[in-house]
Amino acid sequence: MDDCLFCGIVAGAVPAELVHETERTVAFRDIDPQAPTHVLVVPRDHHVNAVELAAADPATSAELVTAAAAVAAAEGHPDDYRLVLNTGPGAGQTVFHTHLHVLAGRPLTWPPG
Ligand code: 5GP
Ligand code: ZN
Repeated sequence: MDDCLFCGIVAGAVPAELVHETERTVAFRDIDPQAPTHVLVVPRDHHVNAVELAAADPATSAELVTAAAAVAAAEGHPDDYRLVLNTGPGAGQTVFHTHLHVLAGRPLTWPPG
């Protein structure tokens, strides 16, 4: 999608600090980190949220999670991390290209805000 920020990052048109890539996913550091490790894992293809991705492309949906685990491990947090899929504006979604937040490196309280 032409006007999608994360499509731009996947295409290399928008700068980002990439930390991990697979056939179907790209992972890069969040520009406004909420934890020492805060990485976004996105599918290369455009889908507006996690549910649409899961319905359209289950293999990539699974790869998003395995890529997130690989990122957490590479960052030194193989066993303690949080994966977040904000879905819809009311839940805090601001970019409408599926992205899985990987948060680690500090105590993560529950419930989240
Ligand atoms: P959401 O609020 O949609 O769940 O998450 C969007 C995330 O994208 C936010 O955590 C925000 O900081 C991050 N973000 C927004 N613009 C950019 C950008 O240009 N580059 C990077 N790396 N992250 C961004
Ligand atoms: Zn997109």
